Amino acid sequence: MTNNGEGSRSACHDCGLYLLGALSPDAVVAFEAHLTDCCDCQDECETLGPIVSAMIGLSPADVEDMHPHPEPL
Ligand SMILES: [Zn+2]
Repeated sequence: MTNNGEGSRSACHDCGLYLLGALSPDAVVAFEAHLTDCCDCQDECETLGPIVSAMIGLSPADVEDMHPHPEPL
């Protein structure tokens, strides 16, 4: 059923980096080729994509606002 399972398995680890834009151009090409054949990565990108997009759209100040600072008493 699976062909070249070991090779595609390593590409699956690139999903998060791909969504973050942290892969090298060569790795992006390789991952996108892998993505067309890998249901796991398609699911992961669909799930993580909106979350990552939201996160990288936030400024550091926005992120700080999400964590209320404990006020000294
Ligand atoms: Zn995959």
